[in-house]
Amino acid sequence: MTAEMIITNARVLTMDEVRPRAEAVALAGGRILAVGSAAEVGALTGPATRVIDAGGRTLLPGFVESHLHLVLGGNELTQLQLGGVLGFEALAEAFRAYAAANPDKPLLMAQGAAYEILGEAVTRHDLDRVIADRPIAMMSPDHHTVWANTAALQAAGLLHGAAMPHGHEVVMAADGTAAGELREFEAFSPILALSGELHLQLGIATGGEPNPWPDAAQRAIDKDKVAAGLAHCAAHGITSMVNMDGNLYTLRLLQEMEAEGRLTARVKVPFHMKPHMGLEELERATAMTEAASGDWVFAGFVKMFQDGVVDSRTAYMLHDYPGTNARSEPLFEPERFKDICAEADRRGLQIAVHAIGDGAVQVTIDGYEAAQVRNGKRDSRHRIEHIELIDRADVPRLGALGITASVQPPHPPGVMDFPLSTMEHVFHRHRWQDAYLWKTLADHGAPLAFASDWPVTDVSVMRGIQAALTRVPFDGAGDERVPLMTVLNAYTAGGAWAAHMEGVTGRLVPGLAADLVLIDGDIEAIPATGIGATGIVLTIAGGRITHQATGFA
Ligand SMILES: [Zn+2]
Repeated sequence: MTAEMIITNARVLTMDEVRPRAEAVALAGGRILAVGSAAEVGALTGPATRVIDAGGRTLLPGFVESHLHLVLGGNELTQLQLGGVLGFEALAEAFRAYAAANPDKPLLMAQGAAYEILGEAVTRHDLDRVIADRPIAMMSPDHHTVWANTAALQAAGLLHGAAMPHGHEVVMAADGTAAGELREFEAFSPILALSGELHLQLGIATGGEPNPWPDAAQRAIDKDKVAAGLAHCAAHGITSMVNMDGNLYTLRLLQEMEAEGRLTARVKVPFHMKPHMGLEELERATAMTEAASGDWVFAGFVKMFQDGVVDSRTAYMLHDYPGTNARSEPLFEPERFKDICAEADRRGLQIAVHAIGDGAVQVTIDGYEAAQVRNGKRDSRHRIEHIELIDRADVPRLGALGITASVQPPHPPGVMDFPLSTMEHVFHRHRWQDAYLWKTLADHGAPLAFASDWPVTDVSVMRGIQAALTRVPFDGAGDERVPLMTVLNAYTAGGAWAAHMEGVTGRLVPGLAADLVLIDGDIEAIPATGIGATGIVLTIAGGRITHQATGFA
């Protein structure tokens, strides 16, 4: 058998223990045909083989993004980007330019607005001074807060407040009108609805399905947004991803794209279980799992949110936040959560729970433990997403129960794009040593999976690798950097394992999918501080080139 493509003269890091290093890889039929020395692999060259000289660059398994929001990210690529914008003048200038370029949008929506964008709490009056005659709104980077102007609040019916479920809040001003800040999804979804794109938010908001089901024309618009997200990810070397919101509609869009040959990454889609749902709703998760077979679109897991986020102090803590009498609450009642975990586990479904505060992490571990006690130990690979603070006593429980720490190197304040000032605001000084532990969790046996949580942070895996390698310890805390090979594993084989996809991708081994990424240099020789700026030369998913740097090959 001859190869369709050979990449040779590469520094191949296979992420496979049996043969960790090689010089060349041969591909055929969407799979890896051979891995070995340049001579061994070169013997598979035929007349039609495309041979790519890697020029000594590092060749890795395609990156596995273990936690992102593909549909939301793709949609946001079309909105105003406020990352890096600070101060009223810069904000006003950005919004006015975007408004001029989009005269017909019913809502001018911006992303990436820093909590401290105006120095102090943003009000609707601030945004009215930006633009008063059209609805405008902006989302925080963590996607848990929206600020809106008066026109938007009025159009959304929120100007005089609204009854909200626990944990969601229309912040009110002293004069009895909405202040402009909307906390958590239920509070700001009426604003997002003004855009006509709310059905794309259902996967994260309610776990429900669009009603009516979008017609072919609407689905075409939606698929274009997903395609924009996929292209963005391919440019960063990503060939597999775990979508951390979902519903059947998301799954069906991706399956249509697969049939149309437009799917450039393998995507895992969850059923999103909300606190109000009965146990019988898990049947929908089982149905999604049965509806997705093959090597590109997967289901098989349940996503839940156990708490909110630190900035808005909705993350559930074991102790009160600094200077307050509040610690938030778990979103699932702990005993009921155990029942849900046991039932999902009994159905053979994997569970992924967003848990940020140490209280939420503890309740989640308790739920997984209860499932294991009731159902016996299975190859369940339940996982916890984020783990921003953990009680020291809970650290060894992850490894002991086989719980994956699905964490995000870009997230710790001061490491990448989030300001260090958050630390003072949300964590007591003496707890900084328990915040954003990765090395400690791994040292205690927890499998690691790394991700960006895009669009919450930049999806760039190279920047994430740099963040994981260069993180400076918080004042009084330990060194939580992890070694390069551990980092690379968490972005490839470890992520694949954590998603039950190790039989498909994550390592460069004959028979597995031809998912590869060629980075623009020798990653073992580049200084850690230079990795983030290192480009992706080539991304290949299922044997197909999904990204190629201009001027290469
Ligand atoms: Zn997320």
